Amino acid sequence: MLKIKNLVLRIGTILIVSSTSVGCSFEKKTDETKHFDIKIEQETKNEMNTNSSPVISSESSTITTHESTEVLPSPTLPSIATEEPVEEDNRGLVALTFDDGPSKYTEELVEVLDSYGVKSTFFVLGCNSENYPDALTTISDSGHEIAIHGDTHTSFTKLSIDQVNQEITNTMDYIASLGIESSCLVRPPYGSLNDTLKENIEYPFILWNIDTEDWKTKDKEQIKQEILDYIEPGCIILMHDTSAVHEVDIEVLNEILPELTEEYKFVTISELCDHYNIELEKGKAYRKIKSDS
Ligand SMILES: [Zn+2]
Repeated sequence: MLKIKNLVLRIGTILIVSSTSVGCSFEKKTDETKHFDIKIEQETKNEMNTNSSPVISSESSTITTHESTEVLPSPTLPSIATEEPVEEDNRGLVALTFDDGPSKYTEELVEVLDSYGVKSTFFVLGCNSENYPDALTTISDSGHEIAIHGDTHTSFTKLSIDQVNQEITNTMDYIASLGIESSCLVRPPYGSLNDTLKENIEYPFILWNIDTEDWKTKDKEQIKQEILDYIEPGCIILMHDTSAVHEVDIEVLNEILPELTEEYKFVTISELCDHYNIELEKGKAYRKIKSDS
């Protein structure tokens, strides 16, 4: 049976589709010859000439001469310059993730993220979701992604496969019962995984490659430095949405996001996968999202 499952996993390339609760499903993609082009983001950003775009009002019917300003009736003028030049977004894409919520501080956290135009992914616990259902609505309504961190924060490696599935589906079911959409992405508590889990759990595992250790150090400078030292397109940054680290994390975000958002676009994990044409596979663990994942 396991062999059959493995076969299916290897043959099929799998795409996460939006879903609710246990209705999470994967869809095979027919086009398997994707071309990855991942290094285009940053190189031209600082070379843009900000003076190169003449401003021409699409509504203006005013012609200015050295002597006077004459207003002509609009219908007599040809329709020109009705399109604003579209500025290309060359920022590299990165993912900021928050574990262990929601909490009573989630709303404030979302407010800060929104103020910088940052989208993130919240790996929530079922037990906390039941305590803060409104926070889930806030996350979802603001365009952030809700993903699954289990129900009770028990290490999956200490549970049977049935129990792990319960941890996941209980949480998905509860979120769905609120009419809120969650993704099928799963982050195991403590990042603990083993081969049995990878072979038997029907969801992709999303880990991280930048661990701020905010819960451990609660040290603003250390958390900032970890992010600033290792941030790169495709990275996954781990932070937490808990009362223990809320204050310091808010300080960190307010200090680093104004500059980082100049260079990087913060998106959800699903958006990051879409950008790099990564089709997540069930049972596989991802530390970052790039073409070589
Ligand atoms: Zn956790």
